[in-house]
Amino acid sequence: MRAKSPALDRFRIAAAVLVAAIHTSPLTTYTADGDFFLTRVLARLAVPFFFLVTGYFLSRSEWNSLPRFLKKTGLLYLAAMLFYLPLNLYSRNLSGWQNIVRGILFDGTFYHLWYFPAVLLGSLLAFLLSRKGPRFALTAAGLLYLIGLGGDSYYGLVSSLPFGKAFYDILFSLSAYTRNGIFFAPLFLLLGAYAKRRNPRLCLVGFLLSFAAMSVEAFLLRAAEAQRHDSMYLLLPFCSLFLFSLLLSRNSGQNRDARRFSAVFYVIHPWCIVLVRGGAEMLGLEAVLVSNSLGHFLAVLLFSAAVSLSAVFFLPRRPSETGRAWCEIDLRALRSNTFLLQRKAGVHSALMAVIKADAYGHGAIPCARALRRCGVRAFAVATLEEGITLRRAAVRGTILILGYTPPSEADLLVRWRLTQAVMDEPYARQLAAQGRRVAVHVAVDTGMHRIGIPVEEVAAFRRVYRLPHLRFTGIFSHLCTANGRSPQEESFAQMQTNAFLQLVSVLRSCGCPVGDTHLLASAGILRFPQQPCSYVRAGLALFGAWETQEERDESCGLRPVLSLRARIVSVRRLETGERAGYGLAFEAKRPTVLATVSIGYADGLPRSLAAQGGEVLLHGKRVPMVGRLCMDQLLIDATDAGETYSGEIVTLIGRDGEERISAEELAGHCGTITNELFSRLGERLGRCILP
Ligand SMILES: *Cc1c(COP(=O)(O)O)cnc(C)c1O
Repeated sequence: MRAKSPALDRFRIAAAVLVAAIHTSPLTTYTADGDFFLTRVLARLAVPFFFLVTGYFLSRSEWNSLPRFLKKTGLLYLAAMLFYLPLNLYSRNLSGWQNIVRGILFDGTFYHLWYFPAVLLGSLLAFLLSRKGPRFALTAAGLLYLIGLGGDSYYGLVSSLPFGKAFYDILFSLSAYTRNGIFFAPLFLLLGAYAKRRNPRLCLVGFLLSFAAMSVEAFLLRAAEAQRHDSMYLLLPFCSLFLFSLLLSRNSGQNRDARRFSAVFYVIHPWCIVLVRGGAEMLGLEAVLVSNSLGHFLAVLLFSAAVSLSAVFFLPRRPSETGRAWCEIDLRALRSNTFLLQRKAGVHSALMAVIKADAYGHGAIPCARALRRCGVRAFAVATLEEGITLRRAAVRGTILILGYTPPSEADLLVRWRLTQAVMDEPYARQLAAQGRRVAVHVAVDTGMHRIGIPVEEVAAFRRVYRLPHLRFTGIFSHLCTANGRSPQEESFAQMQTNAFLQLVSVLRSCGCPVGDTHLLASAGILRFPQQPCSYVRAGLALFGAWETQEERDESCGLRPVLSLRARIVSVRRLETGERAGYGLAFEAKRPTVLATVSIGYADGLPRSLAAQGGEVLLHGKRVPMVGRLCMDQLLIDATDAGETYSGEIVTLIGRDGEERISAEELAGHCGTITNELFSRLGERLGRCILP
């Protein structure tokens, strides 16, 4: 995996400069038409671009990062308002509480700050609309945009219609412009959210054509004196989308310094305008720095850029997720697996997604949200804490705790609306004795002898169903030989299935409120016929994995969700006979390029991996791990992978070029199963969510 070209982040700088152009009108001294074209047509692409990028990144995380985004942007807005307070006080442009409230909620308290309330309100609105599906969301946002258009560039035409003026007068009493978080921002945010990589040539042609048409539109509207304001054109959304898709098709990686530069530049440039004017007056340079529009623009540009650069340099920043070692989570694969498993489960069974152990190391919260969007309404976890974590992240639906919760925590179960598995009869009594109305699923021991009331003890079940307080919403069992291929294992699974189904029908006929039923986990769903149960419980299969390499079945169409990658730390050459690593366990049998990789057993890799044939992908080739695996690093023999540099990415699980290392293969080297490997992936790993 090689160098990145962060086209989107780089374009942010150009967009910020275009905004400064809008506020300084660089060409007025020379040509009024040219300046109109630059600042009222071309530069009008800048702010929509910011909305598109924001929508794109919010949707990439399935809108998971929306709360964090709102908080961060809200704080930035607050800081910016305080920063401009001196200018507000000086110019007295914010008088009267209505003006202040209107300013804070819609128009911004200083002219360029309207962007912040617009992106806050707009992203909230876009998120709510997107929950109804893309078609609805885009239609609704498009209609809002059309209304906004009538109050902007088309005002002169629309206000002559009956009621047109009255309608917009009401709107303008709430917000000075329709270019705000309701009529303007949502459409661009949603276009960004649904944007895809497309053929770059097509995008370029589309952009040039739509931009030419938008220029004609703008000049016609200006000639007709229809414009009350000049932020919105009918063709602006098309033009912006083509431009964004063009950049997206060229985009790989990020440049966070460019992001921060553009944000600081955007916020501070109006202050710089004031200071340039003041400074020019003091120095007697008004002719060059103020009266000449281009000189003025350049002075503002240089001054703002210098301040922004120093801010980027001095402000603290957080480490990147993909700096050292990280998991890449492909939500598209997760969605495709979910739909496939829902089909396999049949029309009578719904999917209960088992996302214990942080969704097998994949990240419970982003996975749960993605699953809910695929229609999953029931989840299973192993512990009370895991359940509460999901609820705190606003995950709705049934959440079943499969593992032990101390009965004394019954109040937490109720407070967080969690459903508890009943381990056995004594547990049921202890839980009922808490006097809380806990929802429970009764576990049935059909032969695994791990948890559950023994299937033959019908009397024990009847005693449990008579206990007070408990709310019985389900009953389940678990197969312990579903992965096995031998006739004995298959017949044991069959016996367990029959015993469970028969118990359910006996209990029903006794009037016990059994509720929802479930039995099959991943292996059972994939291998056995559909059962008449309310749910199937899929864990590992959701993540496109099997327990072992032998079970892996490419033909069934499940796709791996997780990739594990790390960086090369250092590269060196060893002569034949030189040794390396702890215990000098590696000896070079030839002149060797030895590379150090920034991942170790503290990140969850089994320590035995290097000694047992572990490999990584580098430049799309397999290369072996050598020596002893360390806590935070491991060594690879990169001799056959071509020129290698520090900072390059190696793949431990996943694809690089034509080659792929599966999680099953890696687990197999160490005599374990993928479940164990995944659930041990350390918290120290970054997590990078692909949309
Ligand atoms: C973990 C677990 C599952 C999920 O198993 P997979 O094989 O990962 O699908 C299902 N049921 C119970 C009781 C479990 O503990």
